[in-house]
Amino acid sequence: AIAGLAYTAYGIYEMKNPGDQAEPDPTKKTLVILGTGWGAVSLLKKLDTENYNVVVVSPRNYFLFTPLLPSCTTGTIEHRSIMEPVRNFLRHKKASVKFYEAEATKIDYEKKVVYVNDDSEVKGATSSTEIHFDMLVVGVGAENATFGIPGVREHSCFLKEVADAQRIRKRIMDCCETATFKDQSPEERKRLLHMVVVGGGPTGVEFAGELQDFFENDLKTWMPEIADEFRVTLVEALPSVLPMFSKQLIDYTEQTFKEETIDIRTKTMVKNVTKEYIEAEYVGADGKKVLEKIPYGLLVWATGNAVRPVVKDLMSQIPAQADARRGLNVNEYLVVKGAENIWAVGDCAVANYAPTAQVAAQEGAFLARLFNQMAKTEEIETELKNLSNAQETATNKDARDQIFGNIKDLQKRLRRVNSMGPFEYSHQGSLAYIGSEKAVADISWLTGNIATGGTVTYFFWRSAYLSMCFSTRNRVLVLMDWIKAKTFGRDVSR
Ligand code: NAD
Repeated sequence: AIAGLAYTAYGIYEMKNPGDQAEPDPTKKTLVILGTGWGAVSLLKKLDTENYNVVVVSPRNYFLFTPLLPSCTTGTIEHRSIMEPVRNFLRHKKASVKFYEAEATKIDYEKKVVYVNDDSEVKGATSSTEIHFDMLVVGVGAENATFGIPGVREHSCFLKEVADAQRIRKRIMDCCETATFKDQSPEERKRLLHMVVVGGGPTGVEFAGELQDFFENDLKTWMPEIADEFRVTLVEALPSVLPMFSKQLIDYTEQTFKEETIDIRTKTMVKNVTKEYIEAEYVGADGKKVLEKIPYGLLVWATGNAVRPVVKDLMSQIPAQADARRGLNVNEYLVVKGAENIWAVGDCAVANYAPTAQVAAQEGAFLARLFNQMAKTEEIETELKNLSNAQETATNKDARDQIFGNIKDLQKRLRRVNSMGPFEYSHQGSLAYIGSEKAVADISWLTGNIATGGTVTYFFWRSAYLSMCFSTRNRVLVLMDWIKAKTFGRDVSR
């Protein structure tokens, strides 16, 4: 009876999840998509999945709305509010899509195989296998750049994934609680309450702003004993922060940081990291290089992107990629140069654009259109072949004329379908939150080049990010988190 019940339950499950059970259609090509970030998800959103056997592989079974990740480090936003499970949107696709939660460890270009590994905690489960592809989209993103600087991986926190934000949140509170521990030495208090951010790109700037907000709005009130010693320092190797913004906005950001008492150390290059201090080099007033030890309690490392090993390995298999350094070189149709059945999107592709979410999302949407069009082309070409066979065998003139007319129509349709131009990025502008309810925006599409900063821009930043959230569910959750943080303060529990 139990077996019967289980069988019935499984039957119901099977009906509810036809996609998960469907076998690949041998008449269709297998399209494997690696990743569930901006590029891959934007492709999946617009792809007509009925044209291919679509397989998605990613170690993350959710899409993460990364622009709001810095807000998760201080509890302004709860991380689940910016996560969208891939299964949730894949089930709404017309035809089934297979999803495997695993990491692609190697792509064999010649064999057309991806080797995947599921780092599962469930003991005894199958953990590695291989997946054949006819077409492959690499959208695996990038890893954190460390430039081989000793100690970075061991001692600092990155800010790329949910786990990183959770780690930072815990570490901030750990530093504050330990600093106020009974009989703590004054030097240790000073060190523990020094929060250092390395990298003055948008990630470093947004995090520093969020952290200072947390201190001003909440920590100071809840733990007044740390008020005089809590400090945030931003270290940047170049002469200014946010180099991709206009001079006016860079000045505005630096001025705002000064008012917020965030210390900006530009032209300062971190050379070494230990458990308790960083070693930073700058040129002193006498023109000589100085190596300064800067003690820290929390160290956040935000110095940009580096190529992932799986991408590096693929590059080494393709002679045309020999000169590629920052990622897979792609052509104007996002085809990996030297590999006609592999495409790349987002931070792992190099196509003359900055590695931003905006670029990745547009690339993904472009590939969806391209693949939809390729499927249509194939369909029309098959129809054309059938019609020309029928024309040859037709005995009566009227029938032949009729088929001729149909062929002309189809050829016209084929020309229309094939007229898709190459990928062109349309820049919608850059936005960054800089703390104390201020944001900077470079919005070039409005009129010429508008560069604004301030509270109005902050509300623009909020509404822009809210509208960009993946789903209505995400939007509601983020809005509720903002209201919650404003009403009750951020949660300082560890
Ligand atoms: P980034 O590459 O933009 O900035 C990293 C900074 O770290 C650089 O300015 C570099 O000079 C500095 N740096 C490197 N090594 C250093 C060292 N040893 N010591 C001191 N400074 C050092 O990195 P990011 O901020 O992580 O951004 C990555 C990409 O994502 C960029 O293309 C960025 O535009 C994009 N992004 C955009 C937004 C936004 O638009 N709001 C937010 C986050 C990221």
